[in-house]
Amino acid sequence: MKYSRRRFIKTLGAGSAILMLPSIPTFSKSMSIGNKKLGVALVGLGNYSTHELAPALQETSLCYLSGIVTGHPAKAERWKQEYNIPDKNIYNYENFDQIADNKSIDVVYVVLPNSMHHEFTIRAAKAGKHVFCEKPMALSVKECEEMIAACKKAGVRLFIGYRLHTDPYHKAAMKFRSDGSSGILYVQSEFGFKIGDPTQWRLKKALAGGGVMMDLGIYAIQAARYSIGEEPLSVTAQEYKTDYKKFAEVDESITWQMQFQGGHLSNSYTSYSTPANNLYISTNNRWFNLLPAYSYSGIKGMTNTGELYFPPINQQAVQMDTFSKCILDNTESDASGEEGRKDLKVIEAIYKSIESKTQAKI
Ligand code: NAD
Repeated sequence: MKYSRRRFIKTLGAGSAILMLPSIPTFSKSMSIGNKKLGVALVGLGNYSTHELAPALQETSLCYLSGIVTGHPAKAERWKQEYNIPDKNIYNYENFDQIADNKSIDVVYVVLPNSMHHEFTIRAAKAGKHVFCEKPMALSVKECEEMIAACKKAGVRLFIGYRLHTDPYHKAAMKFRSDGSSGILYVQSEFGFKIGDPTQWRLKKALAGGGVMMDLGIYAIQAARYSIGEEPLSVTAQEYKTDYKKFAEVDESITWQMQFQGGHLSNSYTSYSTPANNLYISTNNRWFNLLPAYSYSGIKGMTNTGELYFPPINQQAVQMDTFSKCILDNTESDASGEEGRKDLKVIEAIYKSIESKTQAKI
């Protein structure tokens, strides 16, 4: 944590900072029905599962790592040792459906390449398990609808891995508009990084469904949607390529502008070549800025009245505890399958606008 509590208190003393007392949800087992901790099985033990989700599941209060699903027996062995996972809770992609008989697994967390989200969400639902599914929810609106229907039919819950919905800086962004703003809002949202390995699945259309828009652009869409608090009506998008070999199958950089009801506007950028990490909201004489905005930690916030500060959180742990609490208490979530479907609707319109070189309705 670069911005220390001591420095924050000092700044507050000088009267220049906004005190945003922790809106970090605290979870205790007693808050939920039956004192139950939900067992979570991670499907796909790649980077995100290995470096973020599994460590976060050591910090959660309402769920724990109970199982794994992997195509690599050697990986299964390593995880079994590291996390003390019993053999009966270890599956591969072929025998995955037998998870239906496993009472110690309540939730399946799909952390696979994008094209596999649809299949494994539906298989998990049919096995009677609640689903946490990574972003992007799927490759199309149609797939999203099938996933939502499968979960509904099976009577299980579906959540999308939107870790920023439970981050205090982004919750402040969501509140900015309702904190006394009137007039037209303008949002600028940008997320990009330089992608490495040219052979990875993120650059293969069949596995990723698209390029940077599916992976990082979705954060900028999300930020615009929740900062404005409305759904966009139309979009105009432009695509740019500098490396035709590396990005032969997928998009490298895209800019897009969305129009919302009441004249609110957003302007966004995403790129696998040029780093960007920003959320700026402006209305009348007030403004709000997160820079960096979408990182796992170290988000920094500033507004026209001073600096924002929230104590650091483990985003993934808070996200999974929040989803678990929704399951245990049977309450709604703003990171539902329906929320994931809305982003795919925007993404489809962005690709349509690029192809037609005209404004597309969303
Ligand atoms: P990764 O490449 O590191 O891991 C992918 C996993 O899928 C690997 O374990 C791999 O063995 C397995 N796999 C199964 N079939 C495969 C196939 N045909 N090709 C390639 N891999 C296959 O990817 P990751 O970074 O862990 O991303 C996984 C998912 O998580 C993606 O949907 C990504 O968008 C999402 N993600 C979300 C966040 C977030 O902040 N919410 C961050 C990173 C990744």
